[in-house]
Amino acid sequence: MTDRADAVVIGAGVIGSAVALELARGGRSVIVVDKGPAPGAGSTSSSSSIIRFSYSTPDAVLTAWEAAALWNDWAGHLGVVDPDGMVKFVQTGMLIFHTPGNNTTRIEELWNEVGISYELLDSAALRARVPGVDIGAYFPPKRIDDPAFADDASSEMTAIYEPLSGFIDDPMLSAHNLAYAARHHGAQFRFHQEVVGFEQTDGRVSGVLLADGSTIHAPVVVNVGGPHSSGLNRLAGVADGMRIGNRPLRQEVFTVEAPEGLRLEDGFPATADLDIGQYIRPQIGGTWLLGGTEPECDELHWVDDPDQYDPYPTVEQFEVSMMRAARRVPSFGVPHRPVGLAALYDVADDWVPIYDKSDLPGFFMACGTSGNQFKNAPLAGKFMAAIIDAEAAGHDHDAEPVQYIGPRTGRAINLGAFSRLRDKSVTSGTVMG
Ligand SMILES: Cc1cc2nc3c(=O)[nH]c(=O)nc-3n(C[C@H](O)[C@H](O)[C@H](O)COP(=O)(O)OP(=O)(O)OC[C@H]3O[C@@H](n4cnc5c(N)ncnc54)[C@H](O)[C@@H]3O)c2cc1C
Repeated sequence: MTDRADAVVIGAGVIGSAVALELARGGRSVIVVDKGPAPGAGSTSSSSSIIRFSYSTPDAVLTAWEAAALWNDWAGHLGVVDPDGMVKFVQTGMLIFHTPGNNTTRIEELWNEVGISYELLDSAALRARVPGVDIGAYFPPKRIDDPAFADDASSEMTAIYEPLSGFIDDPMLSAHNLAYAARHHGAQFRFHQEVVGFEQTDGRVSGVLLADGSTIHAPVVVNVGGPHSSGLNRLAGVADGMRIGNRPLRQEVFTVEAPEGLRLEDGFPATADLDIGQYIRPQIGGTWLLGGTEPECDELHWVDDPDQYDPYPTVEQFEVSMMRAARRVPSFGVPHRPVGLAALYDVADDWVPIYDKSDLPGFFMACGTSGNQFKNAPLAGKFMAAIIDAEAAGHDHDAEPVQYIGPRTGRAINLGAFSRLRDKSVTSGTVMG
């Protein structure tokens, strides 16, 4: 069977569905192909879906700030209401401890420049904000078999509190919402369909080959394959033309009972605790999500084949995460058994995403999302449409990067910051970006 579209999007995750929406809204006929069963069923479904603005580069801060405005007006952004339910942006605020290596000075400078309000909390104010939390500084994070794990705190910490951060209450539903809106503009979604090759004509991509032997012809193909995207780039022959690489990294996130007084309902904020190497995200229903921030002592588990990894958390990482949480909150009740998940980040060399074209005309990519781009998905769709439109109009995005003007600030976001050809950006080198 042969089919035809103006654009094929590979992947119906939160970013792929956002790309499909913007391309369809711009008047293109779009076919989204996903080997999974539903929108957002890939790595999106495991996301902690935190929305925060704490990044190390001006374009990353602006992107997160502009994207938050779209989540804030979700129905307005989609232009339709999904009858299966709409996600909500739950604002918790974000607490970021001042810790060595946590780029907090840079974050404060960037927030001052963009106009993002925050409070500086001295130790007394921090203690009052999160009563029951031990605000001792234990940096650097340690494994529990390190004798220094039990050392007393070296001092008391201070923090930044930013009130407008939070999380999206259902990451998979957010992809469903975007896919619903894209369908409203005519996009087709085809599930259980795997892309296994690419067609080229006269030096351009001209379509995708599917595992069932069929072909979809299209002058534009966008790789939004999440943890599979580096493999798809290799299959298309574009990986060698990239200065920034990307690859899957296995991560574990635990669900635990939130300590008394520190629940979402008590106003407990999402917390970046690089002092012990964990992030905490309060959840509806009196629980917390506990994830890691790649401290130096934790080995990184790179994965060669994203179809072959253990999706269950390990006892070893469970114990470390629980003991770290207990160190921070003395009343934390360490659970007996791990409850949580293991999933894959698609990590770029500098932990900054790649939203770009490629050396193969017509082949584009939104990948390397580095465990920190859920929040930017609705804007990433607009970035990709802007790059694809510019290229279609004869513009060379490599030579003169497209500038995207954010409606919230009126400021230009330099999309060259997300180029595959950039020099490595200077970031925290972790999921914090
Ligand atoms: C554990 C975890 C926690 C996270 N926490 C946060 C957070 O708190 N805040 C934040 O901003 N970000 C977070 N992220 C990152 C964010 O969730 C991801 O960046 C985002 O979901 C990626 O979306 P995507 O659409 O690019 O990829 P995916 O959701 O992975 O979608 C890719 C799709 O491509 C399909 N596919 C792959 N190969 C093929 C093929 N050959 N043919 C057809 N289809 C194919 C897959 O089936 C899949 O559905 C987290 C990620 C993880 C894993």
